Amino acid sequence: MSRYTDAVCKLCRREQQKLFLKGDKCYTKCVFEKKPGTPGMAKPQRGKPSAYAIRLREKQKLRRMIQMNERPFERRVAEASKAREASGDHLLRSLELRLDNVVRRMGVATSLRTARQFVKHGHVRVSGRLVNIPSYAVKAGDVVALSPKLKENVNVKLSLDTAKKLSNRPSFLEFDEGVLSAKVLRPPERGEMSFPINDQLIIEYYSR
Ligand code: SF4
Repeated sequence: MSRYTDAVCKLCRREQQKLFLKGDKCYTKCVFEKKPGTPGMAKPQRGKPSAYAIRLREKQKLRRMIQMNERPFERRVAEASKAREASGDHLLRSLELRLDNVVRRMGVATSLRTARQFVKHGHVRVSGRLVNIPSYAVKAGDVVALSPKLKENVNVKLSLDTAKKLSNRPSFLEFDEGVLSAKVLRPPERGEMSFPINDQLIIEYYSR
């Protein structure tokens, strides 16, 4: 599986939108705010983008926000298309409930990359069981807990402070700061999802 190793801020500049890929720095020292141009393009593109280009960019935006490769992302969209509810809602909800994203939304990691590292390094338990698969699907009723060893971790403390300042912890999670765990009370509602994209355009992109 390929991994993107270049500067992540370029991705925000490419998508012309803040994708919040760098944790705390996105709120304090954002490159996109200082240098908003598209990387590698001296002049802005002329003319209106085609319908295909609009859909492609929307898909890329979401894929970059959730940091997934094309193949698994495509599979997610195919699963969502078969769901009984609206495909876009199903897609966003399933991404929202990936274990790495739940850890991020608990407020113990400011970026998805850090949250994923916690999961991969075996610092996360789901309902008492160690799970080191970032894409693991968390369900309503599960309790996601960070290892108590990380309680004094500088990054975790910083993230908790940021979460307090922004007060952006969603209400479908019941967070217990004492033990760094969160219970998933219910599936997230549309307004509680963290991906500001037009899901319809993504579904349309894959149903070409
Ligand atoms: Fe994007 Fe964050 Fe870099 Fe700003 S600081 S360009 S939001 S990754």
